[in-house]
Amino acid sequence: MDYNALAELLFPDVDKTPDYYEKLYPERDLPEGAKVTRFAPSPTGFVHFGGLYPVLVSERLAHQSGGVLYLRIEDTDSKRAVEGAEYDLINVFNNFGINFDESVVKEGAYGPYRQSERREIYRTYAKDLVRQGKAYPCFCTEEEMKELRERQEAQKVTPGYYGEYVKCRNLSLEEVKERLDKGLPYVLRLRSEGDPERKIKFTDLIKGTIEVTENHIDHILLKSDGMPTYHLAHAVDDHLMRTTHVVRGEEWLSSLPYHIQLFNALGFKLPKYLHLSQLMKKEGDSKKKLSKRDKGAGMSDYISDGYPAESVVEYVMTLLNSNFEDWRRANPDADINDFPFSVKKISPSGSLFDLVKLGDVSKNTVSRMTAEQVYDRLTKWAKEFDSDFYQVLSRDEAYTKAILQIGRGGNKPRKDLETWKDAKGYMGFFYPEYFSYQDMIEGFDKFDIIACLDGFAAEYDENDPQDVWFEKVKAVGEKNGFCPNIKEYKANPDGWKGNVGDVSSFIRVAVTGKLNSPDLCAVMKILGKEETINRINKFKETL
Ligand code: GLU
Repeated sequence: MDYNALAELLFPDVDKTPDYYEKLYPERDLPEGAKVTRFAPSPTGFVHFGGLYPVLVSERLAHQSGGVLYLRIEDTDSKRAVEGAEYDLINVFNNFGINFDESVVKEGAYGPYRQSERREIYRTYAKDLVRQGKAYPCFCTEEEMKELRERQEAQKVTPGYYGEYVKCRNLSLEEVKERLDKGLPYVLRLRSEGDPERKIKFTDLIKGTIEVTENHIDHILLKSDGMPTYHLAHAVDDHLMRTTHVVRGEEWLSSLPYHIQLFNALGFKLPKYLHLSQLMKKEGDSKKKLSKRDKGAGMSDYISDGYPAESVVEYVMTLLNSNFEDWRRANPDADINDFPFSVKKISPSGSLFDLVKLGDVSKNTVSRMTAEQVYDRLTKWAKEFDSDFYQVLSRDEAYTKAILQIGRGGNKPRKDLETWKDAKGYMGFFYPEYFSYQDMIEGFDKFDIIACLDGFAAEYDENDPQDVWFEKVKAVGEKNGFCPNIKEYKANPDGWKGNVGDVSSFIRVAVTGKLNSPDLCAVMKILGKEETINRINKFKETL
């Protein structure tokens, strides 16, 4: 068989050779040890939370080593592609602090970064495979393929185009020409030399050394529309974009023997692989894969639910590197990018996705932010998802920031906010439109409550520091029969009407409408004396 002639027959449109592209996309000029990683999603319009997982690993590997992280849009399957999805995706990841150095919006020297625009490149390599006798056209019809599947199902053998089931492997040049002249559609297949009895050893940086069976199936390289399958396209791209490390989900492990074979056939050096375990979710006593429909599966949900991006990233880091939490405890204020991320610390078995844990991580993360940072993120979120709240928050920036400042700094910051959605419940009482009496005081005589409130109002001075403020609360209580000392009270509860904690509650509910609030002395300073006293008076009327 004259493979050159076959190649020319099949690809009259291709006038370049792989050499051309090898020169066009030379090895990257990067410092020693720099890693080139990529995220290569199909733009289906849904960014799975599981996606953040590999991307974060890719991002850390690249940026920690002075390398490059690029985004490649794998849209060769036009049936699945959703228009605009790639921009949403870039935005979603941007939001989570992941910036691609090269992508469809930031072209580098290795583009185009959309596979649908690289058709000519793939066809050049496909032509070269034909020239070497490593690929051949297959004219089997859908009908024939269906028949083949049914036959294999009945025989209970591995499905696929291989061995005795192959029809088009040895067509002569004449036979191919005839079919082409008739305009028959064809796909291009790999002429596999793999043996299902042979095993190959392969080392994955996460899974360790594994044994896989060689691929013996003549998989499709080019579809009948002349576009490549994912397999061919990604091999060509990973090579030409000079990728050093491929991070992806473990669902791709089963394709690996084929990918290794393809890289070999194409004469490419194999990149290093990191196959990440699936994220699991607890369901009763068992675990299952986190699926698209599960709560927490969609990345954009985190944004609308008001999780700060930093929290989500911190949480994913706890899933990826078991020592991250210890590091964070030791370095509460450090930039997450200073964490020495290590591939060796990634668990080869599945991590459990846990929204409760995310909540805890998030509370900690928000508690470490400055009031300024919280203000920026909270108002940005509110602007998009709760515009009334946004109006209220941004009406007086200094006022809102003062509120957000309460309990920040120091080594025991308050942990009230898990998501930005929690903010209204936490701080709404500062604003007239959200202030209402939500909690009631029970078990005390109305006149005792009023006496305490009046006593406090008469003494209140907004310049009092916290300790003086509290002494006044105690004194007012004591005057009205409430023990100023809890220990003393507990020793003799019948000797008193209550204790200083109860007096604080009266004032707290009067001023904030709730039994739980941030530091009351600080709250009053922000509300101002007039509003504080007004609220106390208003509360008395509700009793
Ligand atoms: N386009 C593939 C996907 O949608 C990428 C697989 C890979 O990273 O090689 O998951």
